Amino acid sequence: MIDSLNALRDAALAAVDGVSDLAGLSEVQVKFLGRKGELTQIMRGMGSVAPEDRPKVGQVVNEVRSAIETRIGEREEEMSNEAKRLKFAAEAVDVTRAGRAPIKGTLHPLTQVVREISDIFANLGFEIAEGREVEQEYYNFEALNIPEEHPARDMQDTFYVAPGTVLRTHTSPVQVRVMEAIQPPVRIIAPGKVYRCDSDVTHSPMFHQVEGLLIDEGITFADLKGVLEAFIHEYYGPDIGVRFRPSFFPFTEPSAEVDISCVFCKGSGCRICSRTGWLEILGSGSVDPAVFGFVGYDPEKVQGFAFGIGVERIAMLKYGIDDIRLFFDNDVRFLSHFR
Ligand SMILES: [Zn+2]
Repeated sequence: MIDSLNALRDAALAAVDGVSDLAGLSEVQVKFLGRKGELTQIMRGMGSVAPEDRPKVGQVVNEVRSAIETRIGEREEEMSNEAKRLKFAAEAVDVTRAGRAPIKGTLHPLTQVVREISDIFANLGFEIAEGREVEQEYYNFEALNIPEEHPARDMQDTFYVAPGTVLRTHTSPVQVRVMEAIQPPVRIIAPGKVYRCDSDVTHSPMFHQVEGLLIDEGITFADLKGVLEAFIHEYYGPDIGVRFRPSFFPFTEPSAEVDISCVFCKGSGCRICSRTGWLEILGSGSVDPAVFGFVGYDPEKVQGFAFGIGVERIAMLKYGIDDIRLFFDNDVRFLSHFR
């Protein structure tokens, strides 16, 4: 009987080693150790064993059972580890693989243009000044030599927030506030949003300007021309044509509109420049001494010039955009062009 037990043990251990999955292991367990298994079959013969030999045979039965159970346990653990290893391998992150690129945002084209303009003037020694978008009528109009009856104050043109308070119609109030706060020399640019009741393909109720102001002793119109030409040649390239056209602004005297030779037709005349070969890009002039009167500067001692650049205009010309409203629709298909 002991021989049978040993033979059963060997057969069972070989069977356990031979299976490759948990289902097979379970079958082997049932076959050898189950309630109707082979060990049970052999133990049926216990009755024929001499009583004095029974403890010995019982011990061997226990050893055989234990040996088989131990091996099954070991195999079970091996299989489970192998299954885990395969699972991890399948789910593993390959750190050497190229990643999925995140969707990157971009600076708005108008922000880009404002920064480009600001960088050029910063290199010319100008500081950046900030003003308020909700402004007192006094700073938006009176102090800039725009009297009560001036058409620019028309309700059609201006957003009134409250009596005496408007959304600024230009960045020029910053000039007044800066001159009130500091003594000459003044050398600032003031980029920002401005507002007018106006909306079509080239006008938006909210748009952007970059204001410039330089005040010092002995400043002439030649300085204005020199600074603006330096800016234009830096922004559009040294070959671009520049011309100054007499104009009128209430707070500058004399005043000039500044044109550049058309960037699309190189000056030969096209639809965009209305066949003139020139594109208007900014307004400028020597600061009217009357404005100095509002801020306590002595017009006998200091002189200066101011200019205002329309940011949307610059950006539309730069990128060939013909509808200003595209800037404010926030359509990512449009914005993603400006990386
Ligand atoms: Zn043209």
